[in-house]
Amino acid sequence: MHDVLTVKIRTLTPLWTGGLDGTMDRIHETGIIGSLRWWYEAIVRGLGGSACDPTGDGKCPDKRGRYCDVCAVFGATGLKRAFRLEGPEWWNEERGRRLKVKVGRHRNHRGWFLGRGFMGEGELNILPLRWPEVWTEEELINSLLLVFALVERWAGVGAKTQQGYGVVAFDGIDVDVQKALDAYGKLKNRGDRRVVSNNNLPSIDGFFFAKVRFQTPKQDLGEWVKNRVARIDSDGELNWYLYSDADLQRKAVLPISPIVRYHLRNLARREKGIDVRARHRLFGEQGKKSLIHISHAYPVGGNGWEFRIWGWMPKHLDGSVSRSEALGSLKGWLGIESSNLRRYHAARNGQFWQALNISTPEVCWFEKEKEESGSDYLGALLQDGCEGGENA
Ligand SMILES: [Zn+2]
Repeated sequence: MHDVLTVKIRTLTPLWTGGLDGTMDRIHETGIIGSLRWWYEAIVRGLGGSACDPTGDGKCPDKRGRYCDVCAVFGATGLKRAFRLEGPEWWNEERGRRLKVKVGRHRNHRGWFLGRGFMGEGELNILPLRWPEVWTEEELINSLLLVFALVERWAGVGAKTQQGYGVVAFDGIDVDVQKALDAYGKLKNRGDRRVVSNNNLPSIDGFFFAKVRFQTPKQDLGEWVKNRVARIDSDGELNWYLYSDADLQRKAVLPISPIVRYHLRNLARREKGIDVRARHRLFGEQGKKSLIHISHAYPVGGNGWEFRIWGWMPKHLDGSVSRSEALGSLKGWLGIESSNLRRYHAARNGQFWQALNISTPEVCWFEKEKEESGSDYLGALLQDGCEGGENA
């Protein structure tokens, strides 16, 4: 038997892992594993490794029975996953609840329906079962903890992270970033390794990450939200978001993801440089998945709140828009000072912040610099962060 690694998970915005008929009945480990795998693929690609496309025809094994660097850990037909993961047991007593938010007054805009997810804390148990022959058990754990660290500091876990869900804190992760990066590198030394070319799928070097901080009055958070939407149904559900309880380690959530998304999309609509196909790709219209993920806001002390905007940009979006053009527009909307990247700084208070009615926002922005390697970029994200390494 190997040692079980226990990681405490504490939600900052609701966790969504999917379930029956569009509601979340319980915590599904498959929803967590699926998202860990997605990040693992992005990291492997960004470090020059080999990751197949598990959703396409190209999945492992190949005809010669070989596996890519991701399947070597997460498994595929004929190869079991290198670890077991057990999530907290929780049953959703109020599966049918949802928050209906309509931000604009447009008649043909239906609004958003945010289903009830999991808020609280619990334990994730990771049990190593086997590991690639070039690794030790410790290297398996380190490579997984790198994913946990990236998700915790910059993004989200589970499904629907485009719509505000999945920001979590993990306690009990102690990742040695350099050792983890070295472990990823060693995967290239496997015998019988399948080499898949990096086929314009999410790769960490093409990701941007932003955190935004702002203040609200201490009282009347419900009013604060209501003043920023055309309609929000079901006061009860809004109260569920705003509820906090010291004993349960449950803090309030400001469900602002749809509001932020609405105003960003409006700006995209007016921006000459973003054609309609690129806009659909960025914001997920007409059946496309949104490339841009926007979290709800969570407390960061005092009357301070923080939310995240992040995503992977392909080198070229549909249409004629390049990654750097799309990111340039996004930075412009957010009022980011290009001389001040990777540090919290006062955003220029342009149309976006006025539309949101948020004064004196601070933003921190990360994207890979031209000469920076994928591994240096990951190192900067995880070791330096916005405040020299401390995760606030
Ligand atoms: Zn594979």
